Amino acid sequence: MKKQIADLGFETLITADKIEERVKAIGVQINEDFKDTVPLIIGVLNGGFLFTADLIKQVTIPCEINFTKLASYYGGTTSTLKIREDIDLSIDIKGRDVLIIEDIVDTGNTAHYLIEKLKLKEPASLTMCSLLLKPAALQKKIEELKYIGFEIGNEFVVGYGLDYKEMGRNLADIYKKVN
Ligand code: 5GP
Repeated sequence: MKKQIADLGFETLITADKIEERVKAIGVQINEDFKDTVPLIIGVLNGGFLFTADLIKQVTIPCEINFTKLASYYGGTTSTLKIREDIDLSIDIKGRDVLIIEDIVDTGNTAHYLIEKLKLKEPASLTMCSLLLKPAALQKKIEELKYIGFEIGNEFVVGYGLDYKEMGRNLADIYKKVN
C-alpha cells in the first residue's frame, strides 16, 4: 500500500501480521533465555514504544520494565548522531540482567553509545533486542545485539513507532520510502 507522509512517498515493507508473528517468536526466545533471572527490560523511546509494548506482552516470566530516552536526533532520512552527555534513566541497574529494546539499528552509533553508557552503571549482563537492523549501514559490530526482528536494506522506514518528521509512528505496518 502507498502512503504519503509529509513531503515523502512510502510503500509497505513489513505488514502488521508479519510483525506480530515475529514479536511472538522473539517473546518465546526471551522467556527461555531469561527464565533463571528477573530481567530488567528497558525500552528506548520514542521509536521503541510500540515494539516494547507488544513484546513485553509476550514475556510471561517475571520481569521489570522501564524506559530510557536518548537525545539522538534523526530529523531527516539519514542518520545524524547528536547525543547529550548522559542518558535519561531513573533506575539503578547495578547487578541486573538488562534487556534493551530498540526500534532500529542503522549505523549502530546510537546503540553503541547507549551500551557503553549503561555498562558504566555495572549491570550483571546487557543484551539488546532491535526490531530492525540495517546490516549494510552498520559501522560497528554490536556484540550485545542478540535479538533482531527483521534485517532490512539501507532504506528509510516509518511506522510501528518510527517517524518521519514526527509523523507515522501510529501506523501498524512498516513502510519504506519510495525513491
Ligand atoms: P544509528 O545510530 O544506528 O545510525 O541510528 C539509530 C537511530 O536513528 C534510531 O534509533 C532511529 O531513531 C533513527 N533511525 C535510523 N534509521 C531510521 C529509519 O530508517 N527510519 C526512522 N524513522 N528512524 C531511523
